[in-house]
Amino acid sequence: MTTLLPLAGRVALVTGASRGIGRAIAARLAADGADLAIVARTAEALAATRAEVEGLGRRCLALALDVSDAKAAADAVKRVVDELSRLDVLVNNAGVTRDGLLMRMSDEDWNAVLSVDLSAAFYFCRAAARPLARSPAGRIVNVSSIVGLIGNAGQSNYAAAKSGLFGFTRSLAKELGSRKVTANVVCPGFIETDMTSGLPEEIKKSSLKSVPLGRLGSGADVAGVVAFLCSDAASYVTGAVLPVDGGLAIGGFGG
Ligand code: NAP
Repeated sequence: MTTLLPLAGRVALVTGASRGIGRAIAARLAADGADLAIVARTAEALAATRAEVEGLGRRCLALALDVSDAKAAADAVKRVVDELSRLDVLVNNAGVTRDGLLMRMSDEDWNAVLSVDLSAAFYFCRAAARPLARSPAGRIVNVSSIVGLIGNAGQSNYAAAKSGLFGFTRSLAKELGSRKVTANVVCPGFIETDMTSGLPEEIKKSSLKSVPLGRLGSGADVAGVVAFLCSDAASYVTGAVLPVDGGLAIGGFGG
């Protein structure tokens, strides 16, 4: 007897899929049966993810664009529907940091992070709302951060953008619920990717003291939760804000 994969026949669009968490999400959704559209700023950066998705036997449309460009986002969604026939799953994962203490934070660093980490999710959700409403199981997953829940000194721009996703997503859950589209947020904790690789070892070690599960997370840890939210098993979950952080938000034992 053959078992149907949970996302067989579905099409998923994942932003920020060239590396890190986004690449892990794209690979996981492909392993679960979905065809993929993947987004990053350059086609070269997307080549490895594309090869991985195609290696799993799925179609993959690689789209090079800046997610903070509203027109590019709308054009990308149109291309996905034109070339892959439908859109069932949207994962807004692309994100950047431009850290700095409040008193020294420039307008440019504030606006750059708000544009990529918050406004881009609006551009993609707005463009995708109609095709997602046509899907029998439309899914939006916005990738926030534990920093959106608990704040972080030196990351006021990032925290504002990431917690902005909570109210945005819950509003979408209410607007789109009648169309059977769910909208949820995942909040990764400390995940080993390029975004965190520059942090000094001592900071990584001291952060671990606040993680009850006692290890840093991987892209696959986040991807598994995103895949669940995209599956039929999560068809009655919407408006949720779900930490994927090894317990970081509730605090560890080491101070
Ligand atoms: P990463 O390794 O730095 O990857 C970021 C991804 O976003 C890349 O694919 C990058 O593609 C893409 N991207 C950035 N700016 C873009 C833009 N303007 N247009 C299009 N694509 C853009 O980051 P990550 O650690 O995987 O993080 C992924 C998401 O998880 C982010 O939203 C981040 O805030 C969140 N998060 C991460 C952690 C963590 O510990 N790593 C914790 C909490 C939340 P190109 O550079 O190739 O264009």
